Amino acid sequence: MRHIILTLAALCALAAPSLPAADEPPNIVVILADDLGYGDLSCYGHPTIRTPHLDRLAAEGMRFTQFYSAAEVCTPSRAALLTGRYPIRSGMCHDQFRVLRTRSTGGLPADEVTLAELLKARGYATACIGKWHLGVFSINSAHHPKRHGFDHFFGLPHSNDMDPSPQRPQGASGRLDQDPAWWNSPLYRDEELVERPADQTTLTRRYTEEAVAFIRQNKSRPFFLYFPHTFPHVPLFASERFKSKSPRGLFGDVVEELDWSVGHVLEALRAEGLDKKTLVFFTSDNGPWLIQKEAGGSAGLLTDGKGSTWEGGLRVPGIACWPGRIAAGSTQREMATMMDLMPTCAKLAGAEVPADRPIDGVDIAPILFGKGSVPRETFFYYRGQQLYAARKGVYKAHVLTRPGYGPEKPQAHDPPLLFDVERDPGEHYNVAAAHPDVVKEILADIERHKADLKAPPSQLQDVAAP
Ligand code: MG
Repeated sequence: MRHIILTLAALCALAAPSLPAADEPPNIVVILADDLGYGDLSCYGHPTIRTPHLDRLAAEGMRFTQFYSAAEVCTPSRAALLTGRYPIRSGMCHDQFRVLRTRSTGGLPADEVTLAELLKARGYATACIGKWHLGVFSINSAHHPKRHGFDHFFGLPHSNDMDPSPQRPQGASGRLDQDPAWWNSPLYRDEELVERPADQTTLTRRYTEEAVAFIRQNKSRPFFLYFPHTFPHVPLFASERFKSKSPRGLFGDVVEELDWSVGHVLEALRAEGLDKKTLVFFTSDNGPWLIQKEAGGSAGLLTDGKGSTWEGGLRVPGIACWPGRIAAGSTQREMATMMDLMPTCAKLAGAEVPADRPIDGVDIAPILFGKGSVPRETFFYYRGQQLYAARKGVYKAHVLTRPGYGPEKPQAHDPPLLFDVERDPGEHYNVAAAHPDVVKEILADIERHKADLKAPPSQLQDVAAP
């Protein structure tokens, strides 16, 4: 009899869902698309791109409708994600150069504290798989992901369009028939160059295999997987399995392969019994690269895209999933930003964020777990080192505007343009005249922010001789 009871108890224990203790530090998986717009996923309304795995992630978790990247282009956005700070504070932005290039000597300063460093100190295994773009470590080894808290790196040091080979024809920008041989991007595993040029048609698949291997290797300890994809940044390449399959054309093929990758990572978490112990967050580093025409994405109903401080430049998809902790199928309409990931994940892991510097992100656990709201006053929109706009509550004031790309000079607005971005997310109807008090309040916030700011010299302007 005793034997039967023990067996039953053992069976019940096996059948019980393996919910973590409330304070058990979760695994953290941050998947970052590159230049994916607000309107490029099915669960954000795209009519022809099919993203069943991301749609499922949203259905089992939380979909943000007002999630912001902290910058309008790649390098500053990544710096903000990992440090929880506006890129102006780390010197990781510049008005003219905008991103690090293949001969840049600068990079994320060593005294910046990254989420990877905080989690590593709490015993997490850490990996960065994909596009780094926070320093060219072949020029300065201090800029390697391993010097910023990552145990392991597999990927490209920068964007996939930064190393053109001599075969690349002039004026190939935006073309859908790009040849992999036109590019000479190096692929690294840790410090070792494994392939040059990287075969870009298989990058998404190989990143995914590496990510799944990392999850399996670290299934019995907490881990942080930072997975910044190379795509859908132009030039676009999809593997044979996805090529010419999407009704949206090559851009759709590439996004559908990214979606496959997300599905594969989620399947690995489920297979290892880790899904209920893992917070997965999916987002994009900035809006769609509209000047690439059909090869660029879509910001949906938002104005402009990558490079711009109109909503289309910074408002991006944001999906959070943690079964058992985040309400399934929820839609989050409160504003949140990429800078929030650092303090939020640090707290979940039991780490303290640095107290000796401003951290601009806030802990969004209350809205993730349905336990209240988040104390956020303002959000500032920078283009390079210049503050172009600020949001407070439903209102956004533009003091400067300029298209994301093109020869136009910045246009100053005094009084600022004012939009209610909840009533008017496309920013079509200037309501400044009706709300002079709001304008005054936001201008005062901007002045306070600028007065408190200690901006170091930019890391983006130093370029080594060829
Ligand atoms: Mg980007």
